[in-house]
Amino acid sequence: MDIPRYAGWKAYTEGNNGYLELKDLGLTIQMRGKARTWGKPTTCTIIWDSRDWYASITVKCDPVRETGKGVIGLDFGSKTAIATSDGEFIETPRFQAKAAKQEKSLSKGLRRKWKPEKGTIKASRRWKKLQRQIRQVKRKVANQRHNWSHQVAAEIVSSNSLVATEKLNLKGMTKKGNGKRNKQKTGLNRNLLDVGIGMTKDSLKYKVEKAGGIYTEVPTQKVKPTQRCHQCWELTKKTLSDRVHDCQHCRCQEDRDINAAKVMIKYARGQELSSSDGEPLSSTSCGRMAQLGAKKRQKPQAQR
Ligand SMILES: [Zn+2]
Repeated sequence: MDIPRYAGWKAYTEGNNGYLELKDLGLTIQMRGKARTWGKPTTCTIIWDSRDWYASITVKCDPVRETGKGVIGLDFGSKTAIATSDGEFIETPRFQAKAAKQEKSLSKGLRRKWKPEKGTIKASRRWKKLQRQIRQVKRKVANQRHNWSHQVAAEIVSSNSLVATEKLNLKGMTKKGNGKRNKQKTGLNRNLLDVGIGMTKDSLKYKVEKAGGIYTEVPTQKVKPTQRCHQCWELTKKTLSDRVHDCQHCRCQEDRDINAAKVMIKYARGQELSSSDGEPLSSTSCGRMAQLGAKKRQKPQAQR
């Protein structure tokens, strides 16, 4: 339910902890946490989620997000969550694996309880209780994944105003594998889902553009970031198990995923430069980038 402004509630806070007064209920509730930007409270929403009540307050504000002048390429993979063109790895959090274990044991218990059937058997108290516990585990994982995505994105955006990633067909990558390599593929699937790549990318795009920077996805088929060498731009064929980029042409060696991230940022910067020469750009996604690129280049000039 939405409670309109000043109709029965008041928030005593400056955005960092404080109290919420619900007048109709005669309640004063402690608020925890810190809002990134505080403003004028507009609506208060009371939400029931599985087991707990939550109060969510929206405020009218001017969001301010700082971003650095850095540029970064990001390779979202399976072995580690993210490889960056700076040569760093951001590790995969293993929420799902931990929760999956818990969920499995709870589900096992569920099978031993009376199952409700429409019209004949009512759900038992124990069955309901287990159902609730399973929901809680799922909710916890969803929350953790959401928080992780936002934290990682915020950290990357805080020092980079050009972020390049790869356009990925997540549906294709996470669909069930078949045949001999089924097991291997399932492991990859779990990792991919674990990280919530889509959520992290959305978060990155939103944050960097809000800060006046550029988010771009390089066309995978055209650029082939995994096969290409970030130094000499030649292609070297790799299989899934080749973890190191060992260039046949210029002899440079680099971690497979770091090399891919470096290729992505090099391509993105190249696009940005060529768009300034007024060259026509082939794909529509680059067209959008060209506009933003022009906007970004004005920035350092103004500061000089
Ligand atoms: Zn090379």
